Amino acid sequence: MAVFSGLAEKLQNTFSKLKGKGKLSEADVKTALREVRLALLEADVNYKVVKEFVAKIQERAVGEEVFHSLTPGQQVIKIVNEELTTLMGGSQTGLNMSSKPPTVMMMVGLQGAGKTTTSGKLANQLRKKGRRPLLAAADVYRPAAIKQLQVLGEQLEIPVYSLGDKNSPVHIAKGAVEHAKIHGNDTVIIDTAGRLHINADLMNELRDIKETVQPHEILLVVDSMTGQDAVNVSKEFNEQLGVTGVVLTKLDGDTRGGAALSVKAVTGCPIKYAGVGEKLDALEPFHPDRMAGRILG
Ligand code: GDP
Repeated sequence: MAVFSGLAEKLQNTFSKLKGKGKLSEADVKTALREVRLALLEADVNYKVVKEFVAKIQERAVGEEVFHSLTPGQQVIKIVNEELTTLMGGSQTGLNMSSKPPTVMMMVGLQGAGKTTTSGKLANQLRKKGRRPLLAAADVYRPAAIKQLQVLGEQLEIPVYSLGDKNSPVHIAKGAVEHAKIHGNDTVIIDTAGRLHINADLMNELRDIKETVQPHEILLVVDSMTGQDAVNVSKEFNEQLGVTGVVLTKLDGDTRGGAALSVKAVTGCPIKYAGVGEKLDALEPFHPDRMAGRILG
């Protein structure tokens, strides 16, 4: 994963030194953990998260299981792998699907985070699994957002519900759910409006939509290239709106993406998907264990 390549390189370098040693002293472990700490901080992982993370590993790594092991270096790496997996959420978390269709999903996030693109990608993926999604164009503020969703819908051959930009987002969201019931769409994905920054208007509007359509999923789309802002934005959205899952986009980018690793720890919300490119199939379910494996090599 490109955004984690710097971090991955540093961690792998640290661990290759450990692997080479037959026995490990407490000092060896301390040195390695200092390097881990620095690598995480340099990758822009939230400092509080780093502190707790390293403390946990330290506690486990200076214990019996490491020093009595025949391969102590491997043992330390195994601990880091397990803790990194836990940090990112443990096991994969799937979408909440309603037993009574339609399942309603709200896509929320700041402008440019990738909401519209992710709405299309998600609809595409669900359709491949045999579902009949309906996309709803409730971003009435950004010029061209409705058109963008319609173009995506045409490309994917997935219906898009729109009432143009003269109707309120609440009205559109409600209309889309009604439309889905009549036309047999079992999933409604509502592309909501973002803003450049979080503000009261945005939150009020999203709360109104939430109250009206009672979504089963509120997926927060976060640009992983925005560093600590990604973490702050997630925290704020979750506190003000209640988020059921996070989609980290642009993990294919080349900026330091360590902040993204803190999102779960800071907000408690599971990361459900990762966006890994601009193409419509570039969305992957987020597997914390596989991601940890990729980072640690
Ligand atoms: P919105 O304002 O939140 O609806 O954002 P858009 O869906 O319009 O996306 C903004 C830009 O980010 C577009 O140019 C997308 O192609 C791009 N984008 C979205 N997701 C990804 C991703 O996972 N990787 C990359 N490289 N670009 C992405």
